[in-house]
Amino acid sequence: MGSAVSVEKHKGYLLRNLVFLALVLFATLLAGVPAARATSLEAHAYKIAGDASRVRIVMQFDREPEPRWFLLRGPHRLVVDLPETTFRLDHADLKPHGLVANARFGAVKGGVSRLVISAKGPFSVEKVDVLPNEDAKGYRLAIDLVSVSAAAFDQALADQALVTASSQSTPKTERLPEASKRFVIVLDPGHGGADGGAEGAAGTVEKAVTLAFAKELREVLEATGKYDVSMTRESDQFLRLDDRVRIARERSADLLVSIHADTINLKGIRGATVYTVSDKASDPEAEALAIRENLADQVAGIDIQEADTEVADILVDLIRRETHSFSIRFARTLVGELTHSIGVINNPHRFAGFRVLKAPDVPSVLVELGYLSNAKDEKLLQDADWRRKAAESISKAVAIFAGSRAGAG
Ligand SMILES: [Zn+2]
Repeated sequence: MGSAVSVEKHKGYLLRNLVFLALVLFATLLAGVPAARATSLEAHAYKIAGDASRVRIVMQFDREPEPRWFLLRGPHRLVVDLPETTFRLDHADLKPHGLVANARFGAVKGGVSRLVISAKGPFSVEKVDVLPNEDAKGYRLAIDLVSVSAAAFDQALADQALVTASSQSTPKTERLPEASKRFVIVLDPGHGGADGGAEGAAGTVEKAVTLAFAKELREVLEATGKYDVSMTRESDQFLRLDDRVRIARERSADLLVSIHADTINLKGIRGATVYTVSDKASDPEAEALAIRENLADQVAGIDIQEADTEVADILVDLIRRETHSFSIRFARTLVGELTHSIGVINNPHRFAGFRVLKAPDVPSVLVELGYLSNAKDEKLLQDADWRRKAAESISKAVAIFAGSRAGAG
C-alpha cells in the first residue's frame, strides 16, 4: 500500500507543477498586455485642499506628465493639456471645493487629454509644478490657484494672448497704467440663509437687520456719486466667510465693511463698536464674539478647512501690514463719526481674529451697529431715522478715508 501512496503523492506533485506553470504563463501574458499599450499616461489621484481664496490641487501620474496650461474666461477656467491620459480618478474627489467650482477631464483631438478647472471667480495661477514622488513611484502635478481681482485675471489673459501671438516674446512685465479707478466699497451684510445670527428679545433676527441696513447704506454711499458700491449678498442667502473675503478681493475693493448686530455678554452694554482683525483679541468679549462669528460656516453644516498654505512671501507680508494700518485708520475715523451720531460703547475700537476680515489686500472692518442683547438697541435698529443717521456717519467716514487714500496714491 506504501507504493500506492507514493503514486498519489507523485500525481499531486505533477498537478501542482502544472498549475504553477499555467500561472506563470498567464502572468507573462498579463504583463505583456500593458506593455503593448503603455503609450497612455495614467492619472490615478486628484486631491484638493484650501478655501475660497487659495487652493492647491495635486494629481498623481504613473510617469512624468508634460502639462501645458492656459486661461479661459466666462467662467474663469484653467485648462491643462496633457499627453493622451487615462484618468483613473475617484469622482467623489472632483466635487466643488473652495475656490474651485468644478473639475472635468477627458480626451480632446490629436492624442491630447485635457483637465478643465472652473473657478468661482477670477484667480491667478501661482504655480504648475511637476515633481517626482519621493517615497513612491510616479510623479505629481501640483497646481496653486489664488483668488485675485477681475482686472488681474484679465491682465493675465492679455499676457497669455501676447505669448500665443508670438511664442518668442516673453510676457510683458510692465503693466498698463491702471485707469483712474473709482473707490470701491464692498458691504457685507452679516449672516444669511441657514445662519440667522443673533436674535433680540423682541424677535429681531440679525441676518435681516444687517441686509436691510446694508441696502440703505449702499443708497447713501451711491448718492454721493463717488464710489462703486456692491454687496456680498443681496438676499437671504448663506455665504461662507471665505467667500465674502473672496468677493471683496475679486471686486478689487478698497474697503470691506462687514455689518453686524450681535448679542454681547456684558449686561447693559449698548452702542456701536468697530472691530479690526488681530491675532490677539483686545478683550475677552471681542474674543468671544470673533469665535462665535467664525462659527457661522458650521451653522450651515460646512466643514471648515483652514488654508494650510500660509504665504510666507515677504511682499505679501508687507502688503498685509499696510492693509492692516489702513483698516485701523478707517476704524478710528469711523469711531469718531459714530460717537457723534448714534453713540458707541466703551473702548469702541476693538480687535480679534475675525475670519471675514482676513483679506491681505483689502482694508476691512466689522461694525456692530448695536447689540440685539440690549432692548433699546434692538428698538433703534428698527428705526428708520436712526438707521439713516448711522448710514450717514459711515458715509462721512468713508469720504475721509477715501480722500486720504486718493491723496496718498
Ligand atoms: Zn453677527
